[in-house]
Amino acid sequence: MPAARSILHLDMDAFFAAVEQRDNPALRGKPVLIGHDGPRGVVATASYEARPFGCHSAQPMAVAKRLCPQAIIVPVNGERYGEVSEQMFAILEEFSPLIEPVSIDEAFLDLSGTERLLGSDEAVARRLKDRIKSELNLTASAGLAGCKFLAKLASDMNKPDGLTIIRAEDVERVLPPLPVSKLWGIGKVTAERLGKYGIRTVGDLFKQPVEWLKKHLGNDAEWYLDLARGVDDRPVTPDREAKSIGHEETFEVNVADADEIRRVLLDQAEQVGHRLRRHGLKARAIAVKIRYGDFQTITRSLTFAAATDATAELWQAARGLFDKWSFQPVRLIGFTAERLSTGQEQMLLFADPARQRHEKLDAATDLINAKYGNRTIRRGGAG
Ligand SMILES: [Mg+2]
Repeated sequence: MPAARSILHLDMDAFFAAVEQRDNPALRGKPVLIGHDGPRGVVATASYEARPFGCHSAQPMAVAKRLCPQAIIVPVNGERYGEVSEQMFAILEEFSPLIEPVSIDEAFLDLSGTERLLGSDEAVARRLKDRIKSELNLTASAGLAGCKFLAKLASDMNKPDGLTIIRAEDVERVLPPLPVSKLWGIGKVTAERLGKYGIRTVGDLFKQPVEWLKKHLGNDAEWYLDLARGVDDRPVTPDREAKSIGHEETFEVNVADADEIRRVLLDQAEQVGHRLRRHGLKARAIAVKIRYGDFQTITRSLTFAAATDATAELWQAARGLFDKWSFQPVRLIGFTAERLSTGQEQMLLFADPARQRHEKLDAATDLINAKYGNRTIRRGGAG
């Protein structure tokens, strides 16, 4: 039996809005929307005062303004948020050498085995939150659990300024009532499909026979079943150790429309691009995986002349590979960025000031898409 792990997920509360409110007293206590105030603008973050009106991130700005006309709209200041993010990560680094940044304001920390030095994981989580509050004058929510999946779930449960712990004995009580979409990898589309079979909660999914799940979810069925009982062995991975980043989607029915597949592939390329940039990584190669309706699976890959993190290049390469295949009904499509590097030895996220600036500006754009959802701003048609 391996030693129990202790994973902390830390997530700043309404980060962009909180920074603006902190720095500008005129915004405090008021509904604030961060984002571009134009016809195609999108809310990057809504302050907690704006949320009761129905405003939330990833919402078209025009909709948010209708819901809350008195809201103050503030443009995204990526550079400023990047600076504060660096300060936050500097605090985290005092608590664990094993930190995996998830986004500009969010990270996993592995606290396993730090008790002797730092005290119980709960005490560490409280100290971390206190430090962020006293030094940055901002609040963060933390989740503590035995794995990444549960830690992230926990940090979201009592926002803002929350600390939620899910211990092994809590899993049977906490997980079953949650919607299936809370399981990592189950997106809106899959959740809707499962809903048609009456599977709406994690508990519903867990009760299905394994064979049924395999038929409808493919090889991912076992992964979801593991998550449904709170099992997730993935380690906290500092950026430089990441080898590949990818997304896969299994369709419940074979899809015969090539344009539909291309749209999914484009989404995947965009998500992977965001993640690469978020982690300061570039890919030397990509791979596209297709499973046909007859379960034959093919993977094709392509190596770039120069490593890239640009969505446009990733997508162009993916599309080129996809279009080479003679088309048949498709069961699964996946996109992976491979042979990742930081482009420069020892260059970690938030480590190099010049690169940071560049990263953070990119990140600010990405965050509008990726902070809470990832489909807010999309490229035009995939066809
Ligand atoms: Mg956050």
